Amino acid sequence: MTHTNAIPAGIRNPDDCAPEALTLEQARERILDDVHPLREETSVPLMDALGRVTARDIPSPIAVPGHDNAAMDGYALATEDLCSDGPTAMTLAGTALAGAPFTGTRPPGSCVRIMTGAVLPPDCDAVVMQERVHREAGGAVRIPPGVRPGENVRRAGEDLQPGQMLLPAGERIDGPRLGLLASAGITRVTVLRRPRVALFSTGDELAPPDRPLAPGQIHDSNGPALRGLLTALGVEILDLGRVSDTPGALEEALDQAGARADLVITTGGVSVGEADHVRRVLDRVGRVAFWKVAVKPGKPLAFGRVGDAVFFGLPGNPVSAMVTFCQLVQPALLRLMGVSHPAPPAGFQVPCATRLHKRPGRLEFQRGRLERAPDGRLRVRAMDHQGSGVLRSMREADCFIVLSPEGGTLEAGDLVEVQPFRGVMP
Ligand code: AMP
Ligand code: MG
Repeated sequence: MTHTNAIPAGIRNPDDCAPEALTLEQARERILDDVHPLREETSVPLMDALGRVTARDIPSPIAVPGHDNAAMDGYALATEDLCSDGPTAMTLAGTALAGAPFTGTRPPGSCVRIMTGAVLPPDCDAVVMQERVHREAGGAVRIPPGVRPGENVRRAGEDLQPGQMLLPAGERIDGPRLGLLASAGITRVTVLRRPRVALFSTGDELAPPDRPLAPGQIHDSNGPALRGLLTALGVEILDLGRVSDTPGALEEALDQAGARADLVITTGGVSVGEADHVRRVLDRVGRVAFWKVAVKPGKPLAFGRVGDAVFFGLPGNPVSAMVTFCQLVQPALLRLMGVSHPAPPAGFQVPCATRLHKRPGRLEFQRGRLERAPDGRLRVRAMDHQGSGVLRSMREADCFIVLSPEGGTLEAGDLVEVQPFRGVMP
């Protein structure tokens, strides 16, 4: 999807498409141009490699599977022993179990009882599934005609050949990849260092969750929410808590964060409100640009450097902070972690269950929930509270509904793009 900066017809709020506003793609491109992968490598035991990114290509040292083996429970045989025009009666020469190969000799014209995963006995070239075989009195079996060579046989090396690429450099290791490495007998993996991410919430109104609220105070929810998202990404977290809206406190926190982290995330204080000192302080401690990104919820956003660290100043409203984190910080973090192709979140199209209100102007990320229509087809229902401060909507939702900038209100049944965010594969 490409979005332009052109001002669509029917705009009511001119700020929605301020000419200097960046599209989400432009913001993402600028960010990814400016963020470079960490270089330091370290070797870790296989089971510590979950969530880490491969530093080098990993070829398979062995063939997987190591032997031709049965894909079904049944009878292993040589197809050349079979009658071409009718069933074949065969005697049983023995049994092959997974982990206990058949070690006897198989007289011509006999077959071997075999279980899934067992090594195919020498000179056998097919496995007939047991449901197709008739066992006769006296222990013989009757094999139906039409068995093809290779039937129900898994070939040695069909998953991996020795030397075949197992994992290229720049891939994040998830559960299936851990399994793939283990299948090739790999016990240690060379991975890139994990990024250190410093995090703090700005705002005089913020109190920790364990502190009773004074009048006008709210509990800091951005800190814990972002910590959760960062933990799931597998980065090291330096949590600097809450920082008040005073230039001195902000400067100290930013200095500390910039000196100790690879990437710094703050929330709040980046708009043009009175207490928004972040901007002035950042001019002193870093090189930071303030962007209007034409995204709802989401703008404004600060991006740049504090010291050598990459800096993101996210909006204070909790849903805005989540959306900008998912759409912009996460790709940057993946790049920093060394992932070669940090893809934007994947989406697909479904009809909406109800009318969706939208003003033309900005790309919108509404919170929605996928459900089945009475005819069984997938559709999406928007949560009823779409305010950027209503964090509850993120709990109720399981996807973002992505509405293009030009579009206005949509009717029930219209197709919309959704980006699921309850991934099942860590
Ligand atoms: P700001 O971006 O600082 O102007 O804040 C915008 C709104 O988000 C205000 O209502 C803040 O009280 C709220 N807010 C800012 N930071 C947080 C936070 N860490 N947790 C919850 N709400 C916040
Ligand atoms: Mg604030």
